[in-house]
Amino acid sequence: MSLPPKLVPNIVEAIAKTIENNAEEVTALDQAIGDGDHVFNLQRGLDALVQQKEDLAKLDLVSVLQKIGMTLMSTMGGASGSLFGTLFVSMSKAARDQELNLQSFANIFSQGVESVKQRGKADVGEKTMLDVLVPVALNLQESAAAAIALPDVLKNIKSVAISGMESTRDMVATKGRASYLGERTKGHIDAGAKTTQLMICVIADILLAES
Ligand code: ADP
Ligand code: MG
Repeated sequence: MSLPPKLVPNIVEAIAKTIENNAEEVTALDQAIGDGDHVFNLQRGLDALVQQKEDLAKLDLVSVLQKIGMTLMSTMGGASGSLFGTLFVSMSKAARDQELNLQSFANIFSQGVESVKQRGKADVGEKTMLDVLVPVALNLQESAAAAIALPDVLKNIKSVAISGMESTRDMVATKGRASYLGERTKGHIDAGAKTTQLMICVIADILLAES
């Protein structure tokens, strides 16, 4: 299904700007319990997407998700590269032959999140990006079932993403590099949860401005 031509390029540019604006804070988070490279990894992927924005503008939903996923996988390093890549490639597969509406998008996103769980052998409560992705997927499903109006769906998603990100502060990391520090990870927000929340909020804001 086709998309408004400026939508994906606008989202990619707005995300790149937001990550840039929050780079110091996120780097400090990853330095506290990881190796400090998370923003650098993500920015490599985002730079590649910004360079592809004219191509991205021409693609339909299935192809754009596939291209974003492949680009993130091939340009980003770190655990997050393969996980974000998996999210988009899996969403692309789930989007095949679907008409786009809130329920189908909730299903597509949920399928992507399921693949991230499998790829990272992780779930909620382990202090990762999944502490944002999983509640957002569940909230989308609830909103679709309740036929909530789009602006309210988007506002709810933002607050669910923020509380998911904040919930990682008191968790002990059991997956990824941070898990080596065990109990000492308590008191720090997970860097991947933070960037995932920032990206979801940017997308919701852009869609809110258009709805
Ligand atoms: P690396 O940990 O290899 O240095 P990054 O710093 O780019 O990679 O990404 C770290 C982030 O990846 C973490 O903050 C966490 O959110 C996420 N992450 C790490 N391992 C997993 C996993 N197994 N499942 C889900 N997310 C994970
Ligand atoms: Mg790192």
